[in-house]
Amino acid sequence: MKILVLNAGSSSLKYQLIDMEGEKLLAKGLVERIGIEGSKITQKAHGEQIVIEQPMKTHTDGIQLMLKALLDPEKGALKSMDEIGAVGHRVLHGGEAFTASVLVNEEVKNAIKANIPLGPLHNPANLMGIEACEKVMPNTPNVAVFDTAFHQTMPPKAYLYGVPMEYYERLHVRRYGFHGTSHRYVSKRACEFLGLDRSKTRVITCHLGNGSSLAAVENGKCVDTSMGITPLEGVLMGTRSGSMDPAVVQYIANNDHLSVDEVLNILNKKSGLLGISGLSSDMRDIDDAADGGNERAITAREMLIYGIRKYIGAYTAAMNGVDVIVFTAGIGENGDALRARIMEGFEYIGAKLDSSRNNGCRSEAIISTDDSKVKIVVIPTDEEIVIARDTLCIVTGKPIE
Ligand code: ADP
Repeated sequence: MKILVLNAGSSSLKYQLIDMEGEKLLAKGLVERIGIEGSKITQKAHGEQIVIEQPMKTHTDGIQLMLKALLDPEKGALKSMDEIGAVGHRVLHGGEAFTASVLVNEEVKNAIKANIPLGPLHNPANLMGIEACEKVMPNTPNVAVFDTAFHQTMPPKAYLYGVPMEYYERLHVRRYGFHGTSHRYVSKRACEFLGLDRSKTRVITCHLGNGSSLAAVENGKCVDTSMGITPLEGVLMGTRSGSMDPAVVQYIANNDHLSVDEVLNILNKKSGLLGISGLSSDMRDIDDAADGGNERAITAREMLIYGIRKYIGAYTAAMNGVDVIVFTAGIGENGDALRARIMEGFEYIGAKLDSSRNNGCRSEAIISTDDSKVKIVVIPTDEEIVIARDTLCIVTGKPIE
């Protein structure tokens, strides 16, 4: 079966077409600037690239153009739209309603809608992606795969905030966590790769990209994660502040006569590596500047390393030890120097990095020494394949792994 994996943003659609027989990537594309001047689609299939620049007012226009590109007789990947067996959608926030992926129906759409206040940027776009598919491909089933679902196994002591219980009961204020599809994939893949039984292994997953989060995965289940009710909590990120005293919001708002929304915008979009360095949100730029002696870039990098190390320590304590530490996503997969700094001095928990294995490592590999009790691994993440596998299981009635 061929499965289309869709990640709908407010003005974009990222997609992959995967043939589940052999899990082959048939096409990959990006629809950009939907509803904005300069809309275009770029697609690669069988080494051929298509670029179409055409106004697109809505996500439905975007889906229609995506199908046109996929069906292109010369540079496409499909002969007929009917070859698409199902569509798997990445959905940001499932709240407490979803602990796993589900077939989309009216009830599911209503639940995604009900979670818009928790995911105000992404959930409306994800829903638009689903509704556009329903309109353009009415006979094709849609599956929703939630970024929050994997973290639903956290116990209350990990997911509750220390605020009056009525805020949890009335407003669902709690830690949800994100990047769940990635944490689930890399924790499972790491155990397979190392030949370990997932149901008896304690894993710390470090998803370090533009947005970063860590998770403690005990015996295959998430028991804690660093992101919170929104992706703002946790370690320092590209443009997000990560955790801090919430009184900062009031202090800046009062002092600079800003609204709470305006301060939150600063914390989400102008903080993190960008805010501290004043240079860039991109780790490669920070590395270059820091290596060149730029003080603020050095501070930003140190804050990132220190924050991640603290979470590794915390999650080791949370699970009474750790067996595997996984690095993934842009920084985790490529930043060998940063991995070395993060793992420095962790021999006391039994984790010893092998610098010759780590240096230059950018693919699936063990980067700890042979005598390291804790295995340190790099596992490239693949959220799309998880979405496609879940979708296939749901539409063929098989249990999700
Ligand atoms: P997103 O969260 O947008 O999916 P990615 O997982 O692609 O982000 O990660 C992007 C981050 O990875 C950027 O900060 C980028 O600088 C960083 N990155 C990519 N290559 C390297 C590298 N060689 N060394 C350090 N960081 C890198």
